[in-house]
Amino acid sequence: MRHRIAVVGSGPAGLTFARVLHRHDYPVAVLERDPAPDARPPGGTLDLHEGMGQLALDKAGLLAEFRALSRPEGQAMRILDTDGTVLRDWQPRPDDRANPEIDRGQLRDLLLGPLDVQWGRGVTRVVPGTRDGVLVHFADGRQETFDLVVGADGAWSRVRPAVSPVVPHYSGVTSIETSLDDVDTRHPDLARLIGDGSLAVYGVNRSLVAQRNSGGHVKVYAKFRAPLDWHTHLDLADAEAVRSSLPTLFDGWAAPVLDLLRNGTAFVHRPFHVLPVSHAWAHVPGVTLLGDAAHLMPPLGVGANLAMLEGAELAESIATGPGDPDGAVRAFEEQMWARAGKWAKITAAGLERLVSPDPAEALALFDQVQPS
Ligand SMILES: Cc1cc2nc3c(=O)[nH]c(=O)nc-3n(C[C@H](O)[C@H](O)[C@H](O)COP(=O)(O)OP(=O)(O)OC[C@H]3O[C@@H](n4cnc5c(N)ncnc54)[C@H](O)[C@@H]3O)c2cc1C
Repeated sequence: MRHRIAVVGSGPAGLTFARVLHRHDYPVAVLERDPAPDARPPGGTLDLHEGMGQLALDKAGLLAEFRALSRPEGQAMRILDTDGTVLRDWQPRPDDRANPEIDRGQLRDLLLGPLDVQWGRGVTRVVPGTRDGVLVHFADGRQETFDLVVGADGAWSRVRPAVSPVVPHYSGVTSIETSLDDVDTRHPDLARLIGDGSLAVYGVNRSLVAQRNSGGHVKVYAKFRAPLDWHTHLDLADAEAVRSSLPTLFDGWAAPVLDLLRNGTAFVHRPFHVLPVSHAWAHVPGVTLLGDAAHLMPPLGVGANLAMLEGAELAESIATGPGDPDGAVRAFEEQMWARAGKWAKITAAGLERLVSPDPAEALALFDQVQPS
């Protein structure tokens, strides 16, 4: 018997869930708020870990295509002191496939493949336990019922309230994101500074990270500790004002490092919100959460990996199980909470060290986790 399953959200969690079900010929409704795949810029680059994101793609039958698209050389990591001195310059071996990078847009298109996503279907509320199943309310006023609704709708999930009253809180660290286009041609000095992968500079309570995406595109992240309303005197919609004021936050840093900000195009403010480290809930028949909706944590390279692995695991156990989706969901939730709790602790501690009053902490963390 096929159950009526919906997944809310077409991010890494929702698409991987749907794609693995699709591989097993199990129907699923993918409900996405955005009106089209390209309605918003897709974001930067993601490193997919061998035992997590890559394992999920394997379960979806997409590992070979991922390998063809991804950038193993993007694993390279250079760390500079604020005066521009190179402190670390780590290069992956040519055959290193541990954490290759892929542009989010490429990953999305890979996962989308044959999926028939219902675009422009913003969910406002989910009500479990009605006579006909789980009732989904949409922004356009329509309603639909399903046997299982999977909330993969990210940090500000509209599905989460059906299982948990908890909402994300501000971590104390915020970021401004900007981009450089066509860096090898337009900014060859910066291209050399960044190298093939990422460049990071750590100062007191702040850091600057530049990450190469495909096609000469670079994303730059200025991260710093500040109250959530630090920008009351700055119009964040005024790119010129942001461009000229940002370098003052990094006063005294080497000129080429600050050029990463001075040459930025658009600027996006992204405060880091998190859910409590061991966020869990009493099981609610017919509704569950995946990815950021379940366990939003600091962006330290695992959120999308966990989201994809969870999507793949839940889909696989529903599709190959004995026809008891609720049993599959219960078992999955226990496993997800244990693993996500471990990573939430690691990433919370990591954020403390990467944006720290003592920049030596960031270097020590790098030495701890990076293979020599
Ligand atoms: C700057 C930055 C860098 C990062 N780098 C990495 C990295 O290198 N590696 C890594 O593993 N993780 C990384 N992360 C974390 C990663 O981006 C997230 O953990 C991941 O995107 C979570 O996937 P998701 O599918 O759970 O949610 P999302 O990616 O947020 O997707 C949610 C989807 O749901 C849709 N949606 C939202 N509300 C509704 C609604 N009401 N109705 C219908 N649809 C809705 C959204 O439009 C979206 O498509 C990074 C995060 C940031 C901010």
